[in-house]
Amino acid sequence: MTSHHTPRHPYHIVLIYSLVGGAWIFFSDLLLEWFVSPEYHQTASIAKGWLFILATALLLALLLRQYHLSRLLQERRLREIVDNLPSVLYVFDPQGRAVLLNRAMGRICPGGGDNPTGKSREELGLSPETAAEHHANDMRVIQEGKPLMMEEQNLESDGLHTYLTVKFPLTDTNGSIEAVCGVSTDITDRKRAEEELNAYRYRLEEIVAERTRELEEARLTLLELVASLNQKTEELANANERLQEVDRLKSLFIASMSHELRTPLNSIIGFSSILLNEWVGPLNEEQRLNLSTVLKAGRHLLALINDVIDISKIEAGQVDINPEEFDLYDLCTEAAGILAEEARTKGLVFTVEPIHHAMHTDRRRLFQCFLNLISNAVKYTEQGSVSVVCTHCNRDDERPSRVILTVADTGIGIAPAEQAKIFVPFLRLDSPLKGKVPGTGLGLYLARKIIESILGGQISFISRSQGGSTFTLTVPDRLENAAEQ
Ligand code: ADP
Repeated sequence: MTSHHTPRHPYHIVLIYSLVGGAWIFFSDLLLEWFVSPEYHQTASIAKGWLFILATALLLALLLRQYHLSRLLQERRLREIVDNLPSVLYVFDPQGRAVLLNRAMGRICPGGGDNPTGKSREELGLSPETAAEHHANDMRVIQEGKPLMMEEQNLESDGLHTYLTVKFPLTDTNGSIEAVCGVSTDITDRKRAEEELNAYRYRLEEIVAERTRELEEARLTLLELVASLNQKTEELANANERLQEVDRLKSLFIASMSHELRTPLNSIIGFSSILLNEWVGPLNEEQRLNLSTVLKAGRHLLALINDVIDISKIEAGQVDINPEEFDLYDLCTEAAGILAEEARTKGLVFTVEPIHHAMHTDRRRLFQCFLNLISNAVKYTEQGSVSVVCTHCNRDDERPSRVILTVADTGIGIAPAEQAKIFVPFLRLDSPLKGKVPGTGLGLYLARKIIESILGGQISFISRSQGGSTFTLTVPDRLENAAEQ
């Protein structure tokens, strides 16, 4: 803050006063000699002296008044500044008596009243301990002779307050310390916020530590899990190895047993046929019945053994695939021909719609599957019809050129709930015909394996309980194209 006019230095006034005074003395005596007759000189000189004294006194009074006014103004300004400070400001002498308190200090010192000057801190309303502590801080400032910063506390009507205080010594004209001035800013809210922040930070650290611990535990659990998984994988690999070995042994066993089993069975079937044909002599009724049972059981066993051997060979990947050129027409009529007689005996309408189409695939396998479908259709149909239809489909975007063999019957059909089971090995569905018609429960399982794994085709069906069934084989007409789909 700057003043509008710089006050003239008092020494200037003294100089002007000396010059004007000197000039007055000099010229007033000259004027006196010129204008006043000598007999009045003494009286005029006394009057002149009085006049001078009067003028000087007036001037002094004026100066003093001005000095007094400017002091008052300064004091008032200082007071206003000090009172309007948001911080607490006070001056205490070395004996701990108040010299000056601003309005903020007055508010927290209820004992101050209208004139707090000269009162001790205790008289002003501070507790004895607080007063002693604050005074001790004043004394430290006096001893060290320089400003100090500290935190002070004071219990007030609304609780304990914390102040950030700067105290500095006030010196007199000689430079010796005559009082201590303190400016204290209330930092209670800031302190509380800081404490809350610290508490929060601490809590946060705790949470982080807890989470870290949990994570570590989770990591360890995971590691254990991975270790046990690795162990399981190893066990599985070992088991798999053993299984493969067992599987290999099984295939080996079946392959070697096939010959051993088939030879005596063929003898049983052959000789019982010879006996039944009465080539060696006539048979009575009981012998005929028994021999028929032997022949039936022998054929069943042979069929079973053949199927089992086939399946194990396919599963072991040991099948010999023999693609050959043939006409679909021949295959179709041949397969249908085998069952036509049986169908007619049962009173079924048996129709075949073959087509001529050059094939190059494993004829024996395709024949086997096709025959199985026709045989099932005849087996599981008591009345109505069985129809065999062949068609051909040209290559399209997704599939190679292929033939479609359809066998439709009007037989007992398969209930929706049972349909998923028909490709399960050794499983024959419960039906009134189950006991009557021969079967191993391996036919469709084997057929699907052959069609999908060897011939590269698909087998599908639609059926309704008591509403007949339609089985469809879709097979690439050339085995070398099978991999295309
Ligand atoms: P199975 O030797 O018993 O005929 P399959 O594997 O050929 O064995 O057939 C499995 C089962 O599917 C049969 O037992 C039969 O219940 C049912 N099944 C197969 N084909 C037909 C069909 N055309 N009509 C009704 N049921 C059928």
